[in-house]
Amino acid sequence: MMKSLYSKFAASTIAIMILSSVIAFMASNFYYQQKLKEENDEKITEMAYEVATYIEKEHPNDIESYLKSIAAVGYQMLLVSEENDKQLFGDEFRDEDISQQTIDHVLNGETFHGIAQFPQETFVTGFFANELTNTIGVPLTYEDGNYALFIRPNIKVLFNEMHMLLAALLVITIFLSIVFVLINIKFLVRPITRLTKATKQLATGDFSVDLSTNRDDELGKLTNSFSSMAEQLRKSDDIKNEFISNVSHDIQSPLSNIKGYAQLLDKKTLSEEDKQTYLSVIYKEVDRLSSLTKQLLFLTSLQHDDGLLNQSTYSLSDQLQELIFNYKWELENNGLMVSYSLPETTIYADEALLHNVFENLLTNAIKYNVENGTIDVKIIENKQSVDVSFTDSGIGISKDMQKRLFDRFFRVESSRTNTIEGTGLGLSIVETIVKRHGGVITVESKENEGTTFVVSLPK
Ligand code: ADP
Repeated sequence: MMKSLYSKFAASTIAIMILSSVIAFMASNFYYQQKLKEENDEKITEMAYEVATYIEKEHPNDIESYLKSIAAVGYQMLLVSEENDKQLFGDEFRDEDISQQTIDHVLNGETFHGIAQFPQETFVTGFFANELTNTIGVPLTYEDGNYALFIRPNIKVLFNEMHMLLAALLVITIFLSIVFVLINIKFLVRPITRLTKATKQLATGDFSVDLSTNRDDELGKLTNSFSSMAEQLRKSDDIKNEFISNVSHDIQSPLSNIKGYAQLLDKKTLSEEDKQTYLSVIYKEVDRLSSLTKQLLFLTSLQHDDGLLNQSTYSLSDQLQELIFNYKWELENNGLMVSYSLPETTIYADEALLHNVFENLLTNAIKYNVENGTIDVKIIENKQSVDVSFTDSGIGISKDMQKRLFDRFFRVESSRTNTIEGTGLGLSIVETIVKRHGGVITVESKENEGTTFVVSLPK
């Protein structure tokens, strides 16, 4: 299943928010446990002793109203006498449980550090627990009686004290979120950075980009498409380079032949017969060059003006009959027998281009035939298409070679084909034209038995 960038982003943002809060909370908690709790304990102990000392030294007439006034500024207190009389000042304690042992200790003059000893639970409970065990207990003597005074700040005061800690919590949360978001964005943006780099690399003509990724989101898809585009570009660049080297080679060899024979012609002691031979070679090479450049120009023009067909309705049978008639002399010359079945068929197509197709197929059937061979040309009309087939009894083409037949410059290399003139461009021109008409060309062949090309054109 594809994880979308949207859900990834949403999930990571939520995770960052939760994680930052949890970490910030734990950090403040740690700070509270390690430092604040102790400090708080000290502060309240100091305050408790101030109260006790004041009472012992100044002997206020009314201890109750004195303690009430202390309660009024934000403290809650429990005064316990030796007779275990308890008197509350300020807000009530939510939990008034405290062991008699603790009370006795304080009555005997010890200090009770309930705040520092308060169990290491969560931060809020620790600080705000409104329990008698979360107090400071100090002894005091008043009018010959011993008392234990348990005191702690009330919630309101605590909140005021805590606002620094809450602010710290907020600051830590924000800071952590920013750090995590930056890291997260870096991770999210990394494939884009890689793509940008790869694009620049492609622009310089270097196609060897490596962008392998196993991300399954939109960016992963984009990266994979980019990789296959780069691969495609690399392939077409290879094809282009091979094409240029083929063209150069095919132009170079007739040119050097022409040069060679022209130099021979320059000799003064040449017989008329040799002169004629050399000249005929030169003419032949010039013809080869000329047909090569014509075919090349034709092929590139076909590939450039996309879809520009000069279509009309005409008689396909007449076209093929005329073609065969034009080659009558050449067929006879090669000792070839032609048979045909050309029922009257009209077609809507580019007549000149199709002439080129059929001429290429017929001349191939002549060139790659055997002595006293045969050629059969047929029109078969189907429901959806019109098929034109050229069958020869020639040298045939092996299965391996059949796959590459329509590649530009491809020629079957053998002792028999080497002596036959050709550029290897004919069939790629044929295929381009047939495809342009929305048709297909297929080949069936057996070595040393013959070949059938079928052009299937849509009606
Ligand atoms: P060429 O100019 O060499 O004829 P084509 O593109 O027309 O170029 O053909 C490509 C190659 O396919 C030829 O060189 C030849 O080896 C092979 N070929 C084409 N037609 C036939 C055929 N009818 N019988 C055997 N081989 C053929």
